[in-house]
Order: sequence, then structure tokens, then C-alpha cells
Amino acid sequence: MVNEKIKAAEENLIHVYNRFPIALERGEGVYLYDTNGKKYLDFAAGFAVSGLGYGNQKLNAALKFQIDQLYHTSNLYYHMNCGEAAQKLNQISGMDRVFFTNSGSEANEGALKAARRYAYNKKSGRYQFIAMENSFHGRSFGAVSVTGHTAYREPFEPMLPGVSFAEFNNLDSVKALVTDQTCAIILEPLQGEGGINLATQEFMEGIRRICDENDILMICDEVQCGMGRTGAMFAWQKFGVKPDILTMAKGIGNGIPVGAFAMTEKVAQASLKPGDHGATYGGNPLACMAVKTVIDIFEEEKIVEHVNEVSEYLTDRLEELVQHVDGVLERKGTGLMQGIVLKKPAAQVNNRAIEEGLLVIQAQGNVLRLVPPLIIEKEHVDEMIPKLTKALTE
Ligand SMILES: *Cc1c(COP(=O)(O)O)cnc(C)c1O
Repeated sequence: MVNEKIKAAEENLIHVYNRFPIALERGEGVYLYDTNGKKYLDFAAGFAVSGLGYGNQKLNAALKFQIDQLYHTSNLYYHMNCGEAAQKLNQISGMDRVFFTNSGSEANEGALKAARRYAYNKKSGRYQFIAMENSFHGRSFGAVSVTGHTAYREPFEPMLPGVSFAEFNNLDSVKALVTDQTCAIILEPLQGEGGINLATQEFMEGIRRICDENDILMICDEVQCGMGRTGAMFAWQKFGVKPDILTMAKGIGNGIPVGAFAMTEKVAQASLKPGDHGATYGGNPLACMAVKTVIDIFEEEKIVEHVNEVSEYLTDRLEELVQHVDGVLERKGTGLMQGIVLKKPAAQVNNRAIEEGLLVIQAQGNVLRLVPPLIIEKEHVDEMIPKLTKALTE
């Protein structure tokens, strides 16, 4: 339970989060500890962020070094970390040019602006966006305007004009929305908040075809499903369907606030120009140290290969739950981004899981989301299953 001092201090915050009644203090590997010393097995990773878990010595040393050296310069000057992080990120994402932001929302804002700028450059007059139902792209105005969930948009209307929503995995519903004013189509290859909905191969290929045939840009939001989570470095690579613009955040900094949007050279040549966009903190030496070191660790420790191995085991164990535990209707997702559809309210099971010392996340559609650090081992899956089973049944 959270003590009175923590509760009193919390009264100074604008109340937009309904928190669980624990206060976390410390992390080690795939475990977190609260202020009472209680230990939690982490299958939430701070919303699919901490892929490398907690207390990675190489990452921590790099960040400590950078704090002592220099951690803010502004984008008026060069800093080696920025270029190096960009180079490494482009290598793993398959894109050519990247802009660093401070969050996923900001990455999507930048992507939407870049798409509009591309249309402006071509004097095409295109300004409309097609987005997906049940999508989530963030909370800033542009990002929330393309988020396919009414509750997130309605209190803040009017939204950005020219946005329409298609049914995810229904190509005909996308085709029906295409006009000669369509500028870009934005989608998550694997929807997170929306309930762990994986795009079909046919859908990804179909979107690519619609974009190519109509001079529309394809934007993939891989803020959550990117950086190894699906068993590919980026989910688009699993499909072999490359977007024109890719957005990233969560996993790329392992918790140091950083996001990015990246584009192909073709788009970059006809999109943002000097003076069109910027971010005071974006791509600062500390954030870029995080990105480049995280990528180094991913390569040295073969994290993506590991995700493929351990996620196969997780998948099997979750399928067993579907078979044997009453009230678990279905398993969804892939890699280490999975969910189970429940009969009981997911919130109730989530609360019970916390009592059992297990952290998980809810998603839309009464889904319990499992997005652990990517470094979990089979033994952690074996530890999770009985805790989850207890939370589901008792
Ligand atoms: C979390 C998330 C965002 C928003 O990122 P913030 O860093 O919270 O702004 C955008 N898109 C997707 C798919 C996300 O999961």
C-alpha cells in the first residue's frame, strides 16, 4: 500500500492517471521492488519501454558518462552522439533519414507534418489522413486526431480536419476512404492499446499497393511494436512491407525519453526543409547516448533472436491457459507483445495480479497485455503463468 506522504504529494498533480496502489522504487533485471520491498515480476516494462529491463550495467555506465560530460547543447550545434544514433537507428530500421523527438506522440506529429510537407512540395493539395479504428497514436492534437478511439478525441473536438477511420484489416474499408486529397495512411502493424491486433500480411501489402497506386504516403507507427518486440527489429520487416515514414519511441531509449520519425530518401528529398520543424530537446546528447547504446546492446546480446526463442515458449504456455483456464477466451499478438482476451473484467484480474506480485497492462477489448522486458527467460514465463492463473481464477 502507498503511504500517506506519497498520497499527499500526489495531490499536487493534475489527476489524469488512475494509479494502482503501489509505489515503485527500484528495479533489477526483470523485477521491480516497491517502497515496502515487495518484489514484482515485470510483464509490463513501463508500457513496453524497458526492453533491456532494469540496471543494465553497460547502458547505465554510458548514461552516467554522458551526464558528467554534457547532456544538453540544443540543435544549433553538432554533437557526435546525434549523428551516431541516427546512423545506427537507420541501419536497424531500414530507413534513410531520421529526426529525434522526445516522445511517441511527437514522433507522430512530425510524421503527419512531414506527409503534409511532401504534398505541399508537390503542390498536390493533398491533406487528408486515413487512420484505423482502435488505433492509438498519442495525446497531442495531431496524434489524437488520428487515434481511432472516440473517448480520447471527443472532449477535445474539433480535431484536425480531413481524418477518416477505416476498419483495421479490412482493405475495402480503406479503399472506400481514398480520395484525390488523401495525403497519407497511418497504421500500427500491431495495434497495442487497441487490444493487441496484428495486421494481416494481405492488409499490409494492400495498404502498400493503395499508397503506390495513388501517390499516398504509408506511415507505420512502431512506437510500441518496434525495437525487437515482435521478433523483428521493426514489425514492417516481418511483413516485408516498407513504409515511407516510420515512427518510433518506447523501446529505443529503454526509458530515457526519446522518440523518432524516419523516412526514405525519396520522401526526405521532397519533404521537411531547414526551418520547417524542430525540438529544443530533440536528439540531445543524453537521449542519443541512450539510443546508440541500446542498439549496441541489442546487437551484442542478440536480443531479437532471443525474443524469437522465448516468445515461442510464452505463446505455447498462453495457449495452454486458453485451453485450461475457464474465462480465457483467446490469445492474441506475436513475439513479446501478446494479450489474452478475458471474460472477467481485465481491471479486476490486473489488480489481483499485482497482489500476486505480477505487473501486466490492460488494453481495449477486455484484453490483458503482456509486454515484458525482452530479456526475460523461460524461467520467468514459468514464474508468470501460476501468478496469472491465480489472478484469473481466485
Ligand atoms: C505509446 C504510444 C504512442 C504515444 O507515445 P508517447 O510517448 O506516450 O507520446 C504512440 N503510438 C503508439 C502505437 C503507442 O503505443
